[in-house]
Amino acid sequence: MAEELKGKVMTTDAGRPVGDNQNSLTLGPRGPVVFEDFLLFEKMAHFNRERVPERVVHAKGSAAYGTFTVTNPDMAKYTTAKLFDKVGKQTPTFLRFSTVGGEKGSADTERDPRGFALKFYTEEGNWDMVGNNTPVFFIRDPLKFSDFIHTQKRDPATNLKSPTMMWDFWSLSPESLHQVTILFSDRGTPDGYRHMNGYSSHTFSLINAKGELFYCKWHFKTKQGIKNFTREEADNMKSVDMDYSQRDLFNAIEKGDFPKWRVQVQIMPEADAATYHINPFDLTKVWPHSDYPVIEVGELELNRNPENYFAEVEQAAFDPKNVAPGMGFSPDKMLQGRLISYPDAHRYRIGVNYNLLPVNEPKCPYSTYNRDGSMRFNANGGSTPNYEPNSFGGPTQHPKYVERPTSYSTSTVGRFSHREHDSDYYTQPGNLFRLMSPDAQERLVGNIGSSLSQVEQRIQDLQINHFYKCDPKYGEGVAKAIGRKIEDIVKKEELVSA
Ligand code: NDP
Repeated sequence: MAEELKGKVMTTDAGRPVGDNQNSLTLGPRGPVVFEDFLLFEKMAHFNRERVPERVVHAKGSAAYGTFTVTNPDMAKYTTAKLFDKVGKQTPTFLRFSTVGGEKGSADTERDPRGFALKFYTEEGNWDMVGNNTPVFFIRDPLKFSDFIHTQKRDPATNLKSPTMMWDFWSLSPESLHQVTILFSDRGTPDGYRHMNGYSSHTFSLINAKGELFYCKWHFKTKQGIKNFTREEADNMKSVDMDYSQRDLFNAIEKGDFPKWRVQVQIMPEADAATYHINPFDLTKVWPHSDYPVIEVGELELNRNPENYFAEVEQAAFDPKNVAPGMGFSPDKMLQGRLISYPDAHRYRIGVNYNLLPVNEPKCPYSTYNRDGSMRFNANGGSTPNYEPNSFGGPTQHPKYVERPTSYSTSTVGRFSHREHDSDYYTQPGNLFRLMSPDAQERLVGNIGSSLSQVEQRIQDLQINHFYKCDPKYGEGVAKAIGRKIEDIVKKEELVSA
């Protein structure tokens, strides 16, 4: 192409300059179209493949780049992770918010947990914190994940969302009560993404230079203040602006009103885990603040919008397995399930080389021996060896980075019942109910009522019995909200407040 036309003339994907992008190649002005219209077929073929499969969960999302700044001078007590090594140190981040159950075109203000997936591009590899805006989850064994998610999706016959599926599953899975209580509270319909907290929910670990391990839970507290919609406001917003949260986040950042979160951590010394009265690895439970207060770590600010939604947000991939040296996992079964499941989902959705996509690529140097695979769009290691050990100076392991060994007290492999192990489904959701103001309790039972009223009585009965065990006022409130009497639902000998 003539030098003066470079960058100005449209080309095909292979670089051939295009002379006419308005008219197909046809036999005469009335057609038909001929097969040799490479431009038409290239455009149509590419268009037909424009969508990658949407995420099975967290399909609708919004994201922004930001900065994490350390404020705590003492993090070395807990971890050797370099991103915390001095006050004022900054690490670039990327944070993707999302709803969970809805499809890519669904409304932002649905009652749903919100994803809070955060990537720290640290100098020793990416650290991905794949959290939610809730500190707990509906289930505690990953074997139940697909069952649970099916209840949040569409009915196989009607293709409609189904309160029956949801309440049927929840009523038969009482470990869900804690998360159900949060979901139907005011926090189930946050006013956009800037006004909600994020939580790691899972228990992770930190390891210091002496090799001491601390279990930890991460908290990201909004500096904008918690703000929620009522059920009516959230429902109304679906018809006013389906993309409310996307617009709110994008516009705030665009005008320089950068949202911020306080980054905090709860720390549990390794030895406490064996004797703590709550299973610290149970994703349906929190660690009460009075037992493990939050420690300030730093501040997270979002300050740059993506330039291209598909390239940066749709192709973003977060892996809970990505932790930096000085960090580790925990026996939390749900976390263990996600360590395998997330990268597997990315390989299916955007391909085996998803880590090479610019939004996912580490910003530090990296040298792996993984090669080839579909869409290998970098130099693929060039002529350097693709095996290790090799005698040509290729990168090698370093003992400094061996994971700390973990000991487990049991040596029996089996399918242990999580129900037999812990059937206290009620204390923590009850505590949450009791800390709500009377008007927040009123909204909670009203929100539950508007959904539970649509299902069969036998499912209502089972679920209201669970609420009653959390707190009699909770059960009574829900019964009243659906126009029923608690005496007709809870057995006489179990009624404490009749
Ligand atoms: P605290 O009184 O110390 O903590 C209560 C916490 O409840 C607050 O700090 C706030 O969390 C959170 N909260 C308030 N309203 C709601 C709501 N509608 N939905 C969800 N969370 C809300 O008591 P505990 O630490 O003993 O916890 C009591 C209950 O609070 C727990 O059973 C749990 O349900 C809930 N909670 C506890 C958290 C924890 O890590 N301990 C975290 C979040 C909730 P925040 O400060 O994070 O905004």
